[in-house]
Amino acid sequence: MTSKSLTKQDESAARREIFNRREMIIALAAGSAVPFMAGCADNAALGRNQLLLISDDQLMHLSDQAWSDSLSRQRVSRDPSYTRRLNRVGDRVVAASGQTHLNWEFVVFDDPTVNAWVLPNGKVGFYKGILDIMDTDDHIATVMGHEVGHVTGRHSAERASQQLAAQVGMELLATALGASSSTAQYNDDIGAALGMGVSLGILLPYSRQHEYEADRLGVDYMVASRYDPRQAIDFWVAMSTLHQGGRLEFMSTHPSDDNRIAAMRSHMQARSYI
Ligand SMILES: [Zn+2]
Repeated sequence: MTSKSLTKQDESAARREIFNRREMIIALAAGSAVPFMAGCADNAALGRNQLLLISDDQLMHLSDQAWSDSLSRQRVSRDPSYTRRLNRVGDRVVAASGQTHLNWEFVVFDDPTVNAWVLPNGKVGFYKGILDIMDTDDHIATVMGHEVGHVTGRHSAERASQQLAAQVGMELLATALGASSSTAQYNDDIGAALGMGVSLGILLPYSRQHEYEADRLGVDYMVASRYDPRQAIDFWVAMSTLHQGGRLEFMSTHPSDDNRIAAMRSHMQARSYI
């Protein structure tokens, strides 16, 4: 299948698979709340509703791709002094979280970066750089709990869905303003925007709300897996002095360190953890 037209057809098919854009666009254009209601789900762990416009199957598929991409692009460490610690803590925290239906994997990347991340399919990456500053298993559990919290919170799916909704809204506005030259062009543009929105969605930085939620769930999982939640505070205080800038997943764009630590502390007090 080398011809250009076939390739284009394949692309269109892939886009349709990701999302039935026509239905949603028509519904949105009509000002209907139906697609949002259909895409809203109650998340008991968060105690709130979420906009979810992509299916679990789609999310798993994209996550699997992102995971194999990471494994092929970055050097994986097999050093047992790192991998044993991470697996030991990961297994315990995941068991306490109840998210055992996923096929969890914990990988150490041979890189001095002070960072860690998770994908919605339960694949977790920690860099050597962050493990090197984690003196205790409780420190690892602090970040592990936070990452598992993002999965429970379905934060990636929500972020991707918000992105989709925003893209569709922008395209509709452009059309209303007469910016699109033809219907065919318009449909192509929308398809591209949606496909890209979903792909990027799972890799986008989390929102401030997501970071706070992941912090709270992370602390709950620490306690449930019998790690010491006080050490979460110690760890974040130590991290805040590192001034790593905006690259840390869990310090990405959002709450200031002080606000974050204060919020974590009050959550712990409210639940009588400390
Ligand atoms: Zn985070």
